[in-house]
Amino acid sequence: MHGWIPPDRFFPYLTWEQVAQMPQRSKAVLIQPLGSIEQHGYHLPLVVDIGISTAVIGRTLATLPPDVSIYSLPPLPYGKATEHLDFPGTVSLSTQTLTNVLLEVAESVYRSGFRKLILWNSHGGQPQILELVARDLRDKYRDFWVFPFFTWRLPPLRALAHELLTEKENLVGIHAGDAETSLMLAILPDRVYLDRAQCSYPQLNYQYLSIEGDLPLPWVTKDLSETGTIGDPTTASREKGERIMATLVEAWREVLLEIYHKI
Ligand SMILES: [Zn+2]
Repeated sequence: MHGWIPPDRFFPYLTWEQVAQMPQRSKAVLIQPLGSIEQHGYHLPLVVDIGISTAVIGRTLATLPPDVSIYSLPPLPYGKATEHLDFPGTVSLSTQTLTNVLLEVAESVYRSGFRKLILWNSHGGQPQILELVARDLRDKYRDFWVFPFFTWRLPPLRALAHELLTEKENLVGIHAGDAETSLMLAILPDRVYLDRAQCSYPQLNYQYLSIEGDLPLPWVTKDLSETGTIGDPTTASREKGERIMATLVEAWREVLLEIYHKI
């Protein structure tokens, strides 16, 4: 059942008594892995976003000292992926459903005595939902710290992205492009079909509006790409993916330890 999460860090493997007897439950950290089941172009499987969350969390947890109480809840494969529903295979929850699932998971965790929860997400279509849920929970329970994190949003990773990716890819390679494809080559190489990879950059001609950024367009994927890819996966490599993974694990480890020791 635990997949890529180390079994000793897989929360559902505990008994209720072990949870009840866990010393300093209020200091412990629980992680909810989040992603999506959605199209990722011709060359990547639907599992990419939840696969990346689970693999990065699993490898990060494996580096922690044994006396640190940090556990992963079971990964939630579904997310809000309505922007990809024009492509078969995409399975999406609504904004309301995802919001309620996260609120109810978090409130269960709170009732069990935990006070730190990380909503750890790798799907670009839902950070806003996590941020609102985290803020509402903090407002309701002043001693509950819920962190809305996005796997790719890390300062050390930004520096590496500028080294590994072209300027254009850094700007608009947001879906199934070089970075995501490279990381999947490091995680699940048998499910990456590089011979099917196609570069698809959106043709946009606006002075102020952009895909992401200060003045975002309210796009759905079909507006930007016929293949489902938004970026250039043809330059992806396993070596780049291993470097991205190593940077992610090293930086996320420090973030987890900071939350464990300092919050
Ligand atoms: Zn993705």
